[in-house]
This record gives sequence, C-alpha cells and structure tokens, in this order.
Amino acid sequence: MNTERNKDEPMIEIRDVHKSFGDLEVLKGINLTVNRGKIVSIIGPSGSGKSTLLRSVNHLEVIDQGNILLDGVQVNRPDMKGLQFERHINHIRQNMGMVFQHFNLFPHLSTIDNITLAPRKLKKMPPKIARELGMELLNRVGLASKADVFPNWLSGGQKQRVAIARALAMEPKVMLFDEATSALDPELVEEVNQVMQSLAEEQMTMLIVTHEMGFARDVSDWAMFMDGGVVVEECAPQKLFSNPDQERTQNFLRKHL
Ligand code: ADP
Ligand code: MG
Repeated sequence: MNTERNKDEPMIEIRDVHKSFGDLEVLKGINLTVNRGKIVSIIGPSGSGKSTLLRSVNHLEVIDQGNILLDGVQVNRPDMKGLQFERHINHIRQNMGMVFQHFNLFPHLSTIDNITLAPRKLKKMPPKIARELGMELLNRVGLASKADVFPNWLSGGQKQRVAIARALAMEPKVMLFDEATSALDPELVEEVNQVMQSLAEEQMTMLIVTHEMGFARDVSDWAMFMDGGVVVEECAPQKLFSNPDQERTQNFLRKHL
C-alpha cells in the first residue's frame, strides 16, 4: 500500500530532551531518531535515565525542554490545556504500544479480555470482532490455548507475551519495550525474545531498552549507550558491542557482555 513511502521516514524523533526530578537532571539533552520499520536499542547502567526517556516518549513523564514527535506529530504540547490535551495524548498513546518489565496485566480479566479491552472501549469494536482479533494476536504470540485463562495461571514469559499482544491490539505505529525480559527467569527469556524478533521481521518500528546485549546486537539496526542522562555513544550495533569508541562504553560492556 504505502510503497511510495520513504523508508527513512522518522517515526520517533527525540530532540534535545531534558528532564529533571527536583534538583536531579536525569535527561541532559537527548537526541535520537527511530525511522519507520527500524529497531533501536538503548543500553546503559541502572539509573542512567533509560526508563525516563522511554516514559517521556509517550508522556508518562512530562519533559522540561525539547521536543518529541511521533510520525511527525508533536507529543508534548505545553500550549494545549485540559480536555484538548487529553484527547491529543490519548490519540498519540493509541499509536504507541508499551511493554514494561512488570507485565501490568489486569488480574481480574482473562487473557483475551486483557487484549481486547482497549479496542472494545476505545475503538468501540463489537465483541465478536474483538474476540477474533484477540485470537489472532494470541496465535501470533503462541498462546491461543490460553484465551480464557486468568493472568495468575500464566508463567512470567506467557504473561509478557500477553502484554505484547495487548499492546499490539490497538495496531500501534511503534512499540516501546522497557526491559521486557529483566524480570523473567532465564529459561523464559527466549520465548519473549522470539516474539520481539518476529515483530522485527514484520517491520514493526521498535525502541527497546534492554539488558540483553546479545539480543540487542542481533535484532537492532542502531544501538545507543546512555550514561548519566547523556548519549555517550551511538552507532551500528555490530560496532557498539564489539568495538566501541568511548571508554565508558567499553567499561560498561566489559561488565555486561
Ligand atoms: P534507568 O531506567 O536507566 O535505570 P531511570 O530513568 O529509571 O533510569 O532513572 C534515572 C534517575 O532518575 C534515577 O536516579 C532515578 O532514581 C531517578 N528517577 C526516576 N524516576 C523518578 C521519579 N519519579 N522521581 C524522582 N526521581 C526519579
Ligand atoms: Mg529502567
């Protein structure tokens, strides 16, 4: 359909973003562009501002300075007030799927109801169509047999795959992952990585914060190392993980590879 679209079209643009909590400046002028269909990984030590940056992209954190754009539309709009801003940000958020370290599934809803809640409520999707969509998404993450099971009955890896399916249900333009596998037992990491890998193959635009250096190296088109609220180094993943220029990057990787 969109064959004429420029492949280098920016989907996420982060421009000179600053964010402080009180006196603590956590983001000190971050710049990053994620183009359509590309996968960018962010690595860095704990406390370096990775989650704050990701949360800023969908306005879970309000930035102090700079700009964030999703598919050319400015996310932060200090000029908008009240209901007008609420409508704006809800529309933006529908286009961003976010997956957190802790799955945040609704415990009182079955797997399929977790997935179809947003399309039913926000898109007024009829229940039958929503169920079909939910089953299709469960199939995609390999959990079709778990449709009517409650989250407590699922393993961590299964919960995270449901969380990914739920994020996909609104057909987002981009997916944001904040350490999606960090809370999982090692033997469950691979099944979640495989789902993320399949999204990559389907050309989903993704911004990934991860501790999984091997995974980041294998799936990413671009990798960024953050420390102390600044981008220390960014380049092709093959270079970042094997031959980084900066000493801070080298030291970090020595401890984590
Ligand atoms: P990372 O994800 O890289 O571990 P974070 O973005 O979570 O880093 O945190 C960066 C810094 O900001 C840390 O020092 C953290 O304590 C601080 N921070 C994060 N969120 C808040 C908050 N809501 N209030 C105050 N400080 C915060
Ligand atoms: Mg974090």
